[in-house]
Amino acid sequence: MAIAKRCGACSVCCKDLMFEMDGALKLAGVMCPHATPPHGCGIHDCRPSVCRTYFCGWYYLPSLDEEWRPDQSEVLISLRAPDGLTDGIEFMLLGSPEKLSWLPLVRYIATLIVDGAPVYLALPGEPGYQSPWVYLSDIAALKDAIARRDLDATTAALKAALQICRDYPKTALPQGLV
Ligand code: SF4
Ligand code: SF4
Repeated sequence: MAIAKRCGACSVCCKDLMFEMDGALKLAGVMCPHATPPHGCGIHDCRPSVCRTYFCGWYYLPSLDEEWRPDQSEVLISLRAPDGLTDGIEFMLLGSPEKLSWLPLVRYIATLIVDGAPVYLALPGEPGYQSPWVYLSDIAALKDAIARRDLDATTAALKAALQICRDYPKTALPQGLV
């Protein structure tokens, strides 16, 4: 089935993700030199495989409407774990922590956790540093709040998880990579 969604003016993945491209590392927080925002990718037809194989949650999940597009929602959903290797769903918070009070986001994360999905919360990495993240699906306080259908407690547990991300010591990328 054809996917009707279009990236439009969004270039979030081209800026906020770190990946290897053209034999070099494209750092998080640095816009890809091939990006031509707000007009998308300047080399779309011959973009590298890392871009072709990136699974943007907004793009691929039919239940997420236009307000979830990452440049609108300030939440980048990637269909992979933060290590980039294993299964998972990563929610990267690009803007204010208050976004964790956004009801559609809270409900969606809660639904995924109830369904047993491996869910992660992450923040964008600074140039030269790894993205901090936390595994949500194992946090007892969050699971308990979801089970009790307590919206305030669920939001509070998500904000506490975000603080874990923020408090995590910054991890520089290994020498030789940057
Ligand atoms: S983050 Fe998603 S919607 Fe935005 S440019 Fe990348 S693939 Fe497209
Ligand atoms: S090559 Fe194109 S799609 Fe890939 S990161 Fe750069 S601008 Fe984005």
